[in-house]
Amino acid sequence: MTPAIGVPTPPGDRLVSVDEARAAIAAALRPVTEHERVPLRSALGRVLGEDVLSPIDVPAHDNSAMDGFAFAGGALRSGGATTLRVVGTLYAGAPFAGRIGAGECLRIMTGAVMPEGLDTVVPLESCRAEGERVHIEPGTLAVGENRRRRGEDLARGLPALHAGRVLRPVDLGLVASLGIAEVSVMRRLRVALFSTGDELRTLGQPLEPGCVYDSNRFSLMAAVQRLGMEVIDLGLVRDDPGALQATLEAAMAQADVVLTSGGVSAGDADYTRGLLERLGEVTFWKVAMRPGRPFAFGPLRTPAQPRWLFALPGNPVAALVTFYAFVREGLLQLAGATPDPLPVLQARCTQAMRKRPGRTEFQRARLAPGAGGGWEVQLTGAQGSGILSSMSQANALVVLRHDQGAVAAGEAVDVWLFDGLV
Ligand code: AMP
Ligand code: MG
Repeated sequence: MTPAIGVPTPPGDRLVSVDEARAAIAAALRPVTEHERVPLRSALGRVLGEDVLSPIDVPAHDNSAMDGFAFAGGALRSGGATTLRVVGTLYAGAPFAGRIGAGECLRIMTGAVMPEGLDTVVPLESCRAEGERVHIEPGTLAVGENRRRRGEDLARGLPALHAGRVLRPVDLGLVASLGIAEVSVMRRLRVALFSTGDELRTLGQPLEPGCVYDSNRFSLMAAVQRLGMEVIDLGLVRDDPGALQATLEAAMAQADVVLTSGGVSAGDADYTRGLLERLGEVTFWKVAMRPGRPFAFGPLRTPAQPRWLFALPGNPVAALVTFYAFVREGLLQLAGATPDPLPVLQARCTQAMRKRPGRTEFQRARLAPGAGGGWEVQLTGAQGSGILSSMSQANALVVLRHDQGAVAAGEAVDVWLFDGLV
């Protein structure tokens, strides 16, 4: 309904663009602050709570990057071949105790500590060995080559990883390389979740005429679990104001975030909206996008910790697209993470697409290498917002930007890869 002239539109009622909605969410959220210590083996996917400072230099010593011969680079001649005498062998993990004289070298294995005074390694394949002698042709290598410097990977006292990192396998290896067994991580975010709708049936119940199984709770719970967060499943709630209020209050009592689906589109909007206004604030309500236009976000009023509501549309594809476009990064931000933004790829679309400027449109698609090189996206079929099978076949969303118009076949389009994340 258009408000009467002179009556300002409440902020929550304005139709906002996808970019505005993302910015409003990012500006509103306040991350959790509590930390806990966990052993490295339980730290995968957790959000680092403090910088990890390196207690040592890595590597701890200068060492050889190649199998070859270590010597003092000052011995290299430019006029003719350099000849060195081999006086011993160095293995990784066994430091050298003896002394090396002028014109001498040591056979050295990759990773072995470079003895005091030796700064250069000639690789086996770049020299000619004859009994005890090694010959190096001029111009083969420069002083200092093939030596890994102490601390070149990580320097003692400096941050090896920064707070806010979502720990990946390689990060755990990095922490282990410092000899650190435990890390400080943010406490897990708690996300309570329920589905709304009189027509919804849960698994194991018979499907009466006009009813559908609740699929959103299963896809959304899994998407939240994938982020390493705690899920509190509050089940199905009928389209009944009293039941909705009771469940929302129960959710606010246990969780940082309340994630709902259904009940925000025109038919149900009035009482859901009234409820949100009683229990919190509606930051926005309508986003100029397809699928997913009814999507509400706002803080919930609680005496203690802040709580946040993301009310997703009920249509299963709209629920997942809005989750990916808004909720996923919001949850990571609340969990204390500073993730890199998801990359927006460019790919050639294989077919023409109709598009109306003034809203962002998302199309389910598969991104794959194209026949002529580069990447191609192909839509996965019917794009109705209830058609979950075409979402299941997809690994990416084609994002037709707010101001963009129709797209011709073969044109480059923006693509968000989501494979495995929703
Ligand atoms: P709503 O947003 O409540 O108007 O729902 C829009 C459409 O999505 C309706 O056809 C619903 O039946 C369907 N829907 C709502 N919630 C779910 C759910 N949890 N699982 C599957 N379909 C749903
Ligand atoms: Mg409904």
